[in-house]
Amino acid sequence: MEILVAKTAGFCFGVKKAIEKAFNEKGERIFTYGPIIHNKQVVEELKDRGIDVVENLDNIQPNDKIIVRSHGISKGEYEKIEQMGAVIVDATCPYVKHIHKIVEQRFNDGYKIIIVGDENHPEVRGINGWCNNTAIIINEIEDLNKIDKNLGRICIVAQTTFNQNKWYKISAELIKFAKEILIYNTICSATDERQNEAIELSNKVDVMIVIGGKNSSNSRKLYEICRDNCKKAIFIEDENELNLDEVAGASKVGITAGASTPDYTIKAVIEKLDSLNKLEDRTYESDDEIDYNFKNLSVGEIIEGRVIHITNDEVFFDIGYKADGILPKNLASNRIINLKEIFKIGDVYDLEVVKLSDKEGNVVLSRLNIEKYDILEELEKIKEEGILIKVKLISEIKGGYECLYNNIKAFLPESHSGITQRDEVKNLFGKEIEVNILDVKLQKNDSIEIVVSRKNVIKKIMEEEKRKFIEELSFGQELKGRIKSFIESGIFVTVGPIDVFVPNSEVSWDRKVKPQKEFKINQEVNIVITKINKNEHKVSGSIKRTMKEPWDEFISKYKEGDVITGKVVAFADYGAFVEIIEGVDGLIHISQITTRRIDKPSDYLKIGQVVKPKIISIDYDKKKVSLSLIV
Ligand code: SF4
Repeated sequence: MEILVAKTAGFCFGVKKAIEKAFNEKGERIFTYGPIIHNKQVVEELKDRGIDVVENLDNIQPNDKIIVRSHGISKGEYEKIEQMGAVIVDATCPYVKHIHKIVEQRFNDGYKIIIVGDENHPEVRGINGWCNNTAIIINEIEDLNKIDKNLGRICIVAQTTFNQNKWYKISAELIKFAKEILIYNTICSATDERQNEAIELSNKVDVMIVIGGKNSSNSRKLYEICRDNCKKAIFIEDENELNLDEVAGASKVGITAGASTPDYTIKAVIEKLDSLNKLEDRTYESDDEIDYNFKNLSVGEIIEGRVIHITNDEVFFDIGYKADGILPKNLASNRIINLKEIFKIGDVYDLEVVKLSDKEGNVVLSRLNIEKYDILEELEKIKEEGILIKVKLISEIKGGYECLYNNIKAFLPESHSGITQRDEVKNLFGKEIEVNILDVKLQKNDSIEIVVSRKNVIKKIMEEEKRKFIEELSFGQELKGRIKSFIESGIFVTVGPIDVFVPNSEVSWDRKVKPQKEFKINQEVNIVITKINKNEHKVSGSIKRTMKEPWDEFISKYKEGDVITGKVVAFADYGAFVEIIEGVDGLIHISQITTRRIDKPSDYLKIGQVVKPKIISIDYDKKKVSLSLIV
């Protein structure tokens, strides 16, 4: 019998890291929120180490450590854990976190969220919790009959372990229900690869064995796929459920396993199957041939190794096995590194086993996934804390600029670049600029990309410039500025790095002047500083005080008893205003307009009419002039 083992069988990246995190956690009261994976043995092993399962957050206590499993949880559950005073150990798979972000953002943008997946799956329940539990959940094409056909703007995401073909069918149908649609195929590539390999393998073999928990949705889906593509498919949880009679007589048997199946279970199934074979006839197709000399070592396992030798291209490790481990340069880091600078003889590193035996019999190791996970965490932390980082501006691309941060690709959107002039770009290429991280993305091909912004940095620089400028300003100082904008109560004038507010009353000596008619945007004006609030960075000014006050001209020309010639410019109930000189009006009280009895000034006078009243009094303190047409 030929036994063909799928290379993608077993733990995926997210599950592996979650389990590792759980096993590494130390403390008094540690719980996983729900079983860490759908695998009884792993859950039992954790229990033996004092890490139990908690199903109800009402039962947790302050300072408990709560491990969030790779499926992730809802926003409300994060808040609840915090409210209870417990500590969150977040082992949510980065792919799932990415879905949470999409759902939260699009929900806030007003889209109806549709999750294609199983409503009872914890991952789906968690995702739904990022849109206030308002999502429509579709698991089968038939479910579409139950939903509203006029959904407006919709955003579709998928459970990471959903069947790819079903996803295509459902999302294609959903297009008909929406005016505007955003489709995010969030099926994880691990699932995709596992499912594709299962199709390929189950078409080649007589019997296909799927190993996985009965309540694991991804294992069940694998089984469905194999059943559709192979004459006989068997779904087992472990070697104990394997009935050899069912495979007896098959010349080719395929094996795959769900994301929560440990390697030792896969090995045990192979060993049981192999008992049907004579040892010398045994054949495995997988590149990662299982070598029974490596009893406790399997592909995908994270182990510790001590550096024993370093060349320019490889690092050799003592990994406590009969063969040494070898870390090739291309598997040592996601960044461009010099091995001799990074690794030190005698130091111990975490390493992932990627091949049990190369041509020389060494165990091939990798740090790519380990490092990626660490980098993701580091970047998320930098983002959360708003720490500034330096990126190198590489090139201009569609919608923005490509940058590099420690050899990780960064995208600087044009709108966040603060670059306003083409010349500025040329000067910045190849140089390092300070930015903050807006978003961290794990791409479908597993590479990391960050989205960065210079807005906050530029804002900070500008704030500093403003602070310095205001610090040096003095009351009464006259400066040049440009009109920036008009508001109901006045004008903003840009002076150097600050905007100075000029209230309407300070625009002109002539109160009749309408600022918007008198001035234009961008017009240069002189202003005098009248108020400085250093704490709030607010400055007020006056335009009129840069000009000679008309009152001075008036009192130098006129005195009480003089007859002036002026135009009627405005009426009030109590009288009419006459412009004596530009900027100085006099009031003819209604009783001083005529000896006739009138109800209102307009009964006798017209706006624009030229009159020759006498100055009957001047109030020098209040700068008011009273006129009369009857004395
Ligand atoms: S299947 Fe994919 S999304 Fe789910 S835990 Fe594994 S890596 Fe993460």
